[in-house]
Amino acid sequence: MSNTFQDNQAAAVTHLARFASEPLPHLIDGQPHASVSGETFVNTSPVDGSTLGSICAGANEDIDRAATAAAEAFDAWAATPGSERKRILHNVANLIEQRTHQIAVTECMDTGQTIRFMSAAAIRGAANFRYFADLAPGAADGKALPAQDHINYTTRRAIGPVGVITPWNTPFMLSTWKIAPALAAGCTVVHKPAEWSPYTAHLLAEIALEAGLPPGVLNVVHGMGESAGKALTTHPAIKAIAFVGESATGSMIQAQGAPTLKRVHFELGGKNPVIVFDDANLDRALDAATFMIYSLNGERCTSSSRVLIQRSIYDSVVEQLVAKMKTIPVGHPLDPASVVGPLIHPRHHDKVCSYRDIAAADGATVHEGPGWDQAPAGGCWVAPMLFSDATPTMRVAQEEIFGPALTAIPFDDEADAVEIANNVAYGLAAYLWTSDVGRAHRVSNQLEVGMVWVNSQNVRHLATPFGGTKRSGIGRDGGDWSFDFYMETKNIAIALDTHNIPNLGAAQ
Ligand code: NAD
Repeated sequence: MSNTFQDNQAAAVTHLARFASEPLPHLIDGQPHASVSGETFVNTSPVDGSTLGSICAGANEDIDRAATAAAEAFDAWAATPGSERKRILHNVANLIEQRTHQIAVTECMDTGQTIRFMSAAAIRGAANFRYFADLAPGAADGKALPAQDHINYTTRRAIGPVGVITPWNTPFMLSTWKIAPALAAGCTVVHKPAEWSPYTAHLLAEIALEAGLPPGVLNVVHGMGESAGKALTTHPAIKAIAFVGESATGSMIQAQGAPTLKRVHFELGGKNPVIVFDDANLDRALDAATFMIYSLNGERCTSSSRVLIQRSIYDSVVEQLVAKMKTIPVGHPLDPASVVGPLIHPRHHDKVCSYRDIAAADGATVHEGPGWDQAPAGGCWVAPMLFSDATPTMRVAQEEIFGPALTAIPFDDEADAVEIANNVAYGLAAYLWTSDVGRAHRVSNQLEVGMVWVNSQNVRHLATPFGGTKRSGIGRDGGDWSFDFYMETKNIAIALDTHNIPNLGAAQ
């Protein structure tokens, strides 16, 4: 039986009460810890700006404690048989499934994203753990590469304690996407969640302990990026940083990690095109384009934030998209009927809304949905937006807005579509709609992105590589690509005693 708005509100009161009563601690070596400095910061609700609770603000000393705990736990966890890691990670998945509703309502209240998507995201978090749990026993497997005089084989070992730094959009699911493969590989983890959405990171670490993960294997330190985040990226015990967030932050992390030669994996911003040719199945294309920009409040790295429409169908497609956009329900994040909820934070709200004026000043036509007439004061409420008559160089066609705002640009032919699609700083994903198979292959090959979906919205298959090119990222997640990041590969060459060894010493 699905939960009603009232059920969800009652659950939110129950589940958020603990966060209101005392500052949310770090979880280090299996124990709650206040910050060494004693400092805290306030976490506010996107719904009405009210205070949800206070959070311990980590800094160098707290990261040092957590990194030390992760380093001390590393050898034993890396040496734990893969079958045992598999068992524990399946336990984590089981407990996530049992607590899906708690995770979803907590996430809704912390981020403003709506329950229909946060329920699915919590379930996907469990799926991420299950998928990598099953791969754990084979994570160290390598390749046999026989040569003439040597048998070469490779093995892999976990790289060491790693830092995971996550953003505030879908924070629970994104954390599991990084933490599950790290743990399956045998790494220990220090997780620094986004300061605007700290709660579900704590729930995940609690669940992991309850599931049997040894203390110190997964540690959580809260705090600001410039303090706790930066300290994690510079700590000598941390061997790699898996980061999801803005491109500019990725640049900073690369610089901060350089003195300790950190391995980095970046999933960054996007300005993803959905290209609609005039031979496309338009009903499906428009549903997919609408879904990919107005779901998750448009706060989604793979959102289809630019729709490129062949000129012959541009006017009618824009008209249909605007009509669809105007029916999108904006409402309370806990209401199962809502699609768009409030944005995460007043600062992000102001940024997203500023693009209305930017679009108009640049000469685009601004369309807006009706919003929510009962939106509480003090919240970060928006109405869905669509900017038509846009040109490829306008700011709304170039910059990541990260909100429910779609920019519609016409194109003439295949070459024009590829040129416009590629002419941005980002290169994460692209969506392509055509019934011409040859064109689907030709255009896919020319797009400068990490992922292309043809005649589809983003439908994840966990075995496939996920990641971007250009300012959208470095590296790939998914399947064995995740293990390549969290593990070191070693080659072992065994001689068959048949090869020549030069004799330089000339003993007679
Ligand atoms: P952000 O870069 O502002 O923050 C992300 C995390 O980095 C936070 O935990 C923050 O505290 C931390 N941080 C900030 N400065 C730091 C520093 N100097 N050193 C270490 N850590 C630091 O990003 P955000 O605003 O939270 O998230 C939105 C962005 O994330 C968007 O650009 C979006 O496209 C991107 N994103 C990308 C993907 C992907 O898979 N490519 C997925 C989700 C989100």
